[in-house]
Amino acid sequence: MESQKEARTPGDHVTRTCEKSNCQTRNEEEELEGGEAPTVATLNTEADGANADGLWKLPVESAERRPECSRCRRPLKVCLCPFLPVHPLHISTHLYIIQHPAEENKVLRTVPLLAACLPQEKCKVKIGRRFSEERDPELSAVCQKAGTLILYPGAEAANLEEFILDSPVYPSTIIIIDGTWSQAKDIFYKNSLFRLPRQVQLKTSISSQYVIRMQPTNSCLSTLECAAVALSILEKNNYIQETLLRPLQALCTFQLQHGAQIRLSKEHLLKNGLYPKPMPKNKRKLRKMELLMNSVKI
Ligand SMILES: [Zn+2]
Repeated sequence: MESQKEARTPGDHVTRTCEKSNCQTRNEEEELEGGEAPTVATLNTEADGANADGLWKLPVESAERRPECSRCRRPLKVCLCPFLPVHPLHISTHLYIIQHPAEENKVLRTVPLLAACLPQEKCKVKIGRRFSEERDPELSAVCQKAGTLILYPGAEAANLEEFILDSPVYPSTIIIIDGTWSQAKDIFYKNSLFRLPRQVQLKTSISSQYVIRMQPTNSCLSTLECAAVALSILEKNNYIQETLLRPLQALCTFQLQHGAQIRLSKEHLLKNGLYPKPMPKNKRKLRKMELLMNSVKI
């Protein structure tokens, strides 16, 4: 499993703690960036390729990633470094991103852009689904510190902006989970460590600018956007939000110019009768969809 991260750059500050994952899954979003389809398609073209001697010609699985920019981690042809700050932003807050392994290989991921804008020692990415004191003593210690927050919405979560006004200890660290809605839920509820920090949420009126990836509801933000809003609140500096969102805006503009479609939220599609798939048969899933249509927080 460790083999899937073959070419990390020396400056990389990602910690792998993941077990088995489905990181190899590629999605249709990748096609827009002009990436060639995997060369597996050539397999059937040679009539004599059926014998075992031809097997050496097979491409090694996913070894041929397009060359990446070492800073923004984007393919070199679509490097977004011109939209990143020249120097990492000065922040005092420590940010921990808990990334679901399936997020890591998505081409249109936002976390590398976020990490490229922040000092290495202030932004750590931990990849995995299960975390414990044994597996990650550092993260465990962080979760137990009084000044640590975890950003995860829910009835128990305090509004971050209000929370900092009368918190006895000013927050020094914030943890954000990076994954789809259900992956984040799985990570949050199945790791008791993440129940230790104070749970906070964002009550922001901004709607996601990450329009090329479908969000479940109109108010859902991408991980980069969450981090941008949370850090600008904690650091009391709106410039942080502006700076962190710039590469995301550039990414979306580029993708839209190259044929990407604006992905309206599932909530928007459902409410306007535009949802392209049949409604689920599973009762629990159907109930979720109905709640979404009626804008009840799930
Ligand atoms: Zn770059």
